[in-house]
Amino acid sequence: MTVWIDTELCNGCKRCVKACPYEGVEIRDGKAYILERCTSCGACLETCKQMAMQTDAKPRVIPDFSDWEGVWVFAEQRGGELNTVSLELLGKAQELAGTLNQEVSALLLGSKVAKLANTLIAYGADHVYLAENANLKDYRTIAYTNVMEELVAKYKPNILLMGATHIGRDLAPRVSRRVGVGLTADCTELSIDPEEGILLQTRPAFGGNVMATIANRYSRPQMATVRPGVMEALKKPENKGNVIRHKVSLTQKEIGTKVLDIVREAKKAVNLSEAKLIVAGGRGVGDAKGFKVLQKLAGLVGGEVAGTRVAVEEGWIPADRQIGQTGQSVKPELYIACGISGAIQHRAGMMNSRYVIAINKDPRAPIFQVADWGIVGDLHKLVPEMIKQLKSG
Ligand SMILES: Cc1cc2nc3c(=O)[nH]c(=O)nc-3n(C[C@H](O)[C@H](O)[C@H](O)COP(=O)(O)OP(=O)(O)OC[C@H]3O[C@@H](n4cnc5c(N)ncnc54)[C@H](O)[C@@H]3O)c2cc1C
Repeated sequence: MTVWIDTELCNGCKRCVKACPYEGVEIRDGKAYILERCTSCGACLETCKQMAMQTDAKPRVIPDFSDWEGVWVFAEQRGGELNTVSLELLGKAQELAGTLNQEVSALLLGSKVAKLANTLIAYGADHVYLAENANLKDYRTIAYTNVMEELVAKYKPNILLMGATHIGRDLAPRVSRRVGVGLTADCTELSIDPEEGILLQTRPAFGGNVMATIANRYSRPQMATVRPGVMEALKKPENKGNVIRHKVSLTQKEIGTKVLDIVREAKKAVNLSEAKLIVAGGRGVGDAKGFKVLQKLAGLVGGEVAGTRVAVEEGWIPADRQIGQTGQSVKPELYIACGISGAIQHRAGMMNSRYVIAINKDPRAPIFQVADWGIVGDLHKLVPEMIKQLKSG
């Protein structure tokens, strides 16, 4: 593709100069001029109101996707137990499908897992595609990818959502590659574009400094992963759904791997996404001893202790208690942030909390922008006072 300028039409408005990410256009003698740096990316074309930026590229045609229908959720299970992220995704899927006037389906893969279909229906699935086979008992990448690929090719979903869990992070990119579509990982918000009816997938980008919204116009299904604790499960007890069995023929040879043993970690990682109350600390807490005080407060109100990446890096709390972009996402009823500045990477993990109380000695700390109640002061005085009052009350 080549880009050139019709100097008769150009009025030197500089829109193209601003639009070019490569500084490949400048104004010379009142007209736009393309420099050698131009990569023909086309960013300038849409901004030119005079139609002076010209190209020999043919506009990309959006294929007809009218036979790709439905919002699908991969129902992740281990040992016959559903991961709650799948139920949360079904909640979001109901909203998306409602906007699109389409139906919600869950994909259930495993061995002897049929009984889980009722739960999926009670959380909003209109259909459950059930693939049962002894070779699907424990998660194996190739086995699950093969079945997912078959299901997508046969039933053509519009949208496919998966949890950003250990399994989801392994499976989603494999499936997206197999079916030839893009994948937006770790979305924090999903919605439908009211004009084009396509999925808008929002996620942190550039180290969490901006929220980017990504859309896929040119291929189906539109695929996204979402971390546990970000979306809301939505029970629909009266829902009637049906189970569609998918016949699986997998051979050990094509799978290529065997599960010899499953070694469970002795210490179960804490699941903060279920916590109703969280007392979180940051650098302002000062040391591990400071976190003992937060622990006391959390114990009194039946909550969990968590913290920022700084608190983890300092070794004051274990890594599985980190909240944020590279930690856990939580949505408690109450989040008490102590000595936390409120960096965007931290807020990404706690912004769905119902109520936030922030304690910080700096009145300009960004955490106050997301707090329902802000207390400007020293946490080393305020937290013991809270404990004292709770004990006396
Ligand atoms: C790619 C990337 C991913 C990241 N992921 C995460 C993540 O998942 N989670 C995360 O948390 N961070 C993450 N970070 C780090 C993030 O940018 C911040 O550096 C971090 O959140 C800051 O932690 P903090 O609030 O504890 O410390 P600081 O920013 O240093 O803030 C400490 C606060 O404590 C206050 N304070 C100090 N003493 C007291 C006192 N006695 N009483 C009351 N207030 C006091 C200060 O006024 C200050 O506001 C990430 C960064 C990057 C680049």
